[in-house]
Amino acid sequence: MAASSEHLPDAAARIGPALLTRLREREPLLWVNPHAESMAAGAGALEAGFDIAAAAARFNRFRGLMRALFPALEPLDGRVESGLLPLSRFSALLGGQGAWFLKGDHALPVAGSVKARGGFHEVLAHAERLATAHGLLQPGQDPIVLQQPAARAVFSRHTISVGSTGNLGLGIGLIAAGLGFQAEVHMSADAKEWKKRRLRERGIRVVEHAGDFADALEGGRQRAATDPSVHFVDDERSAELFLGYAVAAQELARQLDAIGRTPSRERPLFVHLPCGVGGSPGGITYGLKALFGDAVHTFFAEPVAAPCMLVQLAASGQGPLSVYDIGLDNKTDADGLAVAQASHLVAPMMKRRLSGVFTVRDDDLLRDVCRLQRTEGLLLEPSAIAAARGPLFLAQSEAGRAYLDAHGLRSCHSNATHVIWATGGSLVPAEEHARYQAKGAELLGSG
Ligand SMILES: *Cc1c(COP(=O)(O)O)cnc(C)c1O
Repeated sequence: MAASSEHLPDAAARIGPALLTRLREREPLLWVNPHAESMAAGAGALEAGFDIAAAAARFNRFRGLMRALFPALEPLDGRVESGLLPLSRFSALLGGQGAWFLKGDHALPVAGSVKARGGFHEVLAHAERLATAHGLLQPGQDPIVLQQPAARAVFSRHTISVGSTGNLGLGIGLIAAGLGFQAEVHMSADAKEWKKRRLRERGIRVVEHAGDFADALEGGRQRAATDPSVHFVDDERSAELFLGYAVAAQELARQLDAIGRTPSRERPLFVHLPCGVGGSPGGITYGLKALFGDAVHTFFAEPVAAPCMLVQLAASGQGPLSVYDIGLDNKTDADGLAVAQASHLVAPMMKRRLSGVFTVRDDDLLRDVCRLQRTEGLLLEPSAIAAARGPLFLAQSEAGRAYLDAHGLRSCHSNATHVIWATGGSLVPAEEHARYQAKGAELLGSG
């Protein structure tokens, strides 16, 4: 898999020559999704088999066990949740409208990234199935019993495997190891060295693959297919991951209620989410649309070198379209977002729900990482700040203003709540943060 130009005529036909040119020139842009539909709040909008309430109930059932396994969850009563932080100084610096907040998943306990939500949910679901099949857990029984030796002995004979650019591997690896499973993470050879080191330090096996993220995923998938003791967490296809992310919408709803910002037509909620393969922002969008319908507008942020969800949703006709097919190289400092092909599970579910996608240059990510540290004292990794440009695209770009007009939102935009979803950072080593800060400061200095 490499950049090639043989698919360009096909890509031009599928996404249009004008958009193709702008994407190929790596111009930061806002693409508004023409397929988005108006939708009423309420479970009626959910796809069959995608049950958010069941996922929320599972997290709830496991609170006691999670608290027992991870001391960091003691003060949270076993809930894997993050804060909602005001961003008034950062938004003032950028000249933003409305009230800006950061959803602090960079500091999610245990895993330090948004991956804790989806990854933990899938591993808990697998542990529950396995324990039930072995007669170790009865229906209705508190899963706290899974910390006993009998359950750990069963888990130790099973492997949880995952393909990851890093953070999903950390999230899955840490909870899998915590429960007593063996854990194995398939990574591309160019994944960040410190992430591989962190995993190995915690007893998690790292398997390196030539090629990109998709090749690492395929390698892991194939190995798991031939060994029944291996459960592969498939970032491109897993409904359990997706639903773990979707539960976050309920948490955000409670936090908005608590500060008197319940979303409504007059007080719209805009949520801006960094997108890699699409699982985390897709699941969160799915949950938010179910709760708030037309009162919430979600936008994904992607690097200019890897706008995989934009390309997939903009393409007409059937079948996948990758960023390689349009001549981009998928090379970005935002390693959590370096994904060439959007999830086949998630892209179709976003077609009706997602408001749009905007693209961001790496230099701007590094500048924003530095601005956020200076104004709010928060340290994020470049992937995790990608969403910060969303409110500005809406207020300042032609496409953004057209979106506000089309939805009758121009007059109430100053009442809007903007949530920028921070997706990772607290497990990044201090020297790595220092490098990001130095690069960002240099870029800010040179204008
Ligand atoms: C994984 C990740 C994302 C994107 O999540 P996807 O599910 O791949 O779309 C964004 N930011 C960070 C820091 C991540 O680790």
